[in-house]
Amino acid sequence: MGIVGAGQLARMLCEAASALDIGTVVLAEELGPSVPNAGAVLEGSPMSEGDLRGLAGACDVVTFDHEQVDLTALSILESEGVTLRPTTATLAMAVDKGSMRRHFAGAGLPVPAFAVLPSGSLGEPLGTSTATTSATATSSATAVAAVTNFAGAHGWPVILKATRGGYDGKGVWIAKDVVQAREICQEACRAGVPLMVEELVDIEAELAVVVARRPRGEMVTWPAVETTQVDGVCREVLYPGRLSPDVAGRAELLARQVAALCEAVGVMAVELFCTGGDLVVNEIATRPHNTAHWTIEGAVTSQFENHLRAVLDLPLGSTDPVAPAVASVNVFGPSDGTPPGPRLPEALAVEGAHVHLYGKTTRPGRKLGHVTVCGPDGTAVREQAWIAATALGTPVPPGIVVPTALLGAVNGVGR
Ligand code: ADP
Repeated sequence: MGIVGAGQLARMLCEAASALDIGTVVLAEELGPSVPNAGAVLEGSPMSEGDLRGLAGACDVVTFDHEQVDLTALSILESEGVTLRPTTATLAMAVDKGSMRRHFAGAGLPVPAFAVLPSGSLGEPLGTSTATTSATATSSATAVAAVTNFAGAHGWPVILKATRGGYDGKGVWIAKDVVQAREICQEACRAGVPLMVEELVDIEAELAVVVARRPRGEMVTWPAVETTQVDGVCREVLYPGRLSPDVAGRAELLARQVAALCEAVGVMAVELFCTGGDLVVNEIATRPHNTAHWTIEGAVTSQFENHLRAVLDLPLGSTDPVAPAVASVNVFGPSDGTPPGPRLPEALAVEGAHVHLYGKTTRPGRKLGHVTVCGPDGTAVREQAWIAATALGTPVPPGIVVPTALLGAVNGVGR
């Protein structure tokens, strides 16, 4: 198994591969979290055809830990017979939010109202010459006109999004009026970032469904989970959270339709918004995903094992949860920059806490790991997971309703 990228997803894929005695080789641009777990490491860039060719030559199947790859180089390799799972056609849909929206809307899937800003109006490279500056001004004026037109139909505020390269909320902006829209468009024009505009969805709940699909279309889904995002960053994942069986069932059906439409192979995550009882598809990731880390201990088969099974065209494992409730809370670096390792004893003292640390250098606000707790009661597993995550230094962000047990611990009362 060749893996492009050496982040935490590659690390956990390598762990799952080790259990099945499947050899792994990662293409690592720098020393990443997966490096200690990989069978072999090739130093190189996901943007270099030569480096990707080197990886392809060292394995039977190439898969991915992220989507920031050179698709042109990959399609050349694919045309030469290299097995890429997922394929470049599937990856192409995930890397461009504009083409993803168009594709899904065209297939009749529910998506937020959107418009990709006129081609040619954005995406010019950063420049300092007078000619470039005036071209940028004209371009951003065209973009602002398109946004104003969209807001005329859908109302302010609107969401502006970079169609490429965004992650964890970087590349998502809210514009409450034309003044803010102009600032965002001008900045995007200067930086050469193509944009789309979409309606501000009144979100009742954010949810995710992860699907594993084999090359000939057989697929399984894990149950829908509720996710809590703060400033575009996923902080906790709850099964079943507040999701009714009806909403969860409809989300799972939509996710299967998306996976079939994209001809996904391997694991694909589908993120959705619930609004007014309806569901809309927000975005997809064509790889294992943070919203399914809970499956490592919380489901019969983890997303990482089923990703391996799917891309190697092996029978898929059961996605049934092993407990009535599962909570997974992400571990982030605290403001003082201290690492979570020395705090392990406190976290491991929390009953039922499964701690995963990714071996990343600590920086304030950096995602460093996650904690999963499974059990009979949703409130209790969430509390336990937060207690362990905060014991590891994770700050509780504004926007998260702090579990009562944690309040006690924070106030020194304990439980
Ligand atoms: P990223 O690729 O950075 O994760 P997303 O498109 O998932 O970007 O957006 C990040 C977060 O921003 C979402 O989880 C959601 O909370 C919020 N968001 C995105 N699009 C909308 C929208 N149209 N309306 C309301 N909130 C949105």
